[in-house]
Amino acid sequence: MPKDENFLKANNARHLWHPMTHPADHHRNPPTIVTGGQGVRITDIDGHSVIDGVGGLWNVNLGYSCQPVKDAIAGQLDELPYYSIFRGTSNDKVIELAEALKDFFAPDGLSRAFFTSGGGDSVETALRLARQYHKIRGEAGRIKFLSLKKGYHGTHFGGASVNGNANFRTMYEPLLPGCYHIPAPYPYRNPFNESDPARLAQLCLQALEDEIAFQGAGTIAAMIMEPILGAGGVIVPHESFMPGVAEICRKNGILLIADEVITAFGRTGAWSGSRLWGVQPDMMSTAKAITNGYFPFGATMISDGVAEVFEKDETGKAAIGHGYTYSGHPVGAAAALACLAETQRLDVAANAKARGAELFAGVQALKDKYDVIGDVRGGYGLMVALELVSDRATKAAPDKATAAKVQQVAYENGAMVRVSGPNIILSPSLVLTADDVQGILGALDAGFRAL
Ligand code: PMP
Repeated sequence: MPKDENFLKANNARHLWHPMTHPADHHRNPPTIVTGGQGVRITDIDGHSVIDGVGGLWNVNLGYSCQPVKDAIAGQLDELPYYSIFRGTSNDKVIELAEALKDFFAPDGLSRAFFTSGGGDSVETALRLARQYHKIRGEAGRIKFLSLKKGYHGTHFGGASVNGNANFRTMYEPLLPGCYHIPAPYPYRNPFNESDPARLAQLCLQALEDEIAFQGAGTIAAMIMEPILGAGGVIVPHESFMPGVAEICRKNGILLIADEVITAFGRTGAWSGSRLWGVQPDMMSTAKAITNGYFPFGATMISDGVAEVFEKDETGKAAIGHGYTYSGHPVGAAAALACLAETQRLDVAANAKARGAELFAGVQALKDKYDVIGDVRGGYGLMVALELVSDRATKAAPDKATAAKVQQVAYENGAMVRVSGPNIILSPSLVLTADDVQGILGALDAGFRAL
């Protein structure tokens, strides 16, 4: 197909539906057509090059030029482009990867991997295995799921059912029955009008205990949560919150699933979000940076305790009736092995921490300068959000054009940023330099100045 911009844009509007987008939008506002990626930058069809402040979609942690990963993918395509790992077959790369992940996640107490094609699949896997775990143990009544309002867990029916944002739910209802949502520890807006993060964490934990008592602990299979809520607008709980959730789950026989599709592999400045808060979950959903976005892949990690129940079962109930054609894909596994090696060799968590501190300081300075910024959130690695308001006193959301304008002018001034509801979200590659951080901040400053 010729790379004629107008031709591509017209065909895009005619033949292509985009995720999270009204199908008519691209008739009015054609998308930016991205044609290249180098380092932490992307280039569009006009040859305009910008720092990718979004890092793909929170996943291109190593940037776009990670040669060892490209070589691993190319090499594996030559050797074995695909074979399934359903009953009776396996491949060397996936075996090697499972062992490498066991070592990587040892401090999180996770030692078994179930491979998937992405984040939604990893969440679905964890939810299904949680129900099965209780059935194997003879507690078949434990079928419900708890989660946080504002949480995001993908768009499969299971994930959408535990999602805490109506945008991903309403048009697809009825969703899975038996899913209940707890208030998020979101100091800027919450039903308790509590802005102190520590006190708010206690109130949310109390709400969790109340819900468990109301439902009956013996009816609940699992609680799923993101250690830092990403898509919901980088909501950073107080450090007491996730340990508190873990303790309440443990007391009540409820499995804790950490949804670390964004937070695993260094984004928060720690190697996992669970480790950041000192929690060992029963299962962890991962995807995104596991292959840096270069290949669709994911893994649900499983603790020794959960694994033992499955592996010691002699009734047959532990036979796993779940899996994907691409579970354990050898090319994905080769990509993941190379990513893990580069992630550790470059110590991207340390860079995420240092650059994240600079980025967060920079957006705090922007908040002091522009009233339209009601709240800024971050402080843990390279996940930062700016929440826009039309009035700081009422915290009313501005019209959609406000964030879109900031995004457009920031793009013209050298950085791609993401708009999600009233939030501007920053989640750049973890190999970003201090100059790149200033580049993003300068572009954002230009965006806000233009309002
Ligand atoms: N869980 C979390 C925490 C996520 O952030 C996402 C994606 N942003 C998902 C699940 C779903 O992942 P995917 O889009 O790969 O299905």
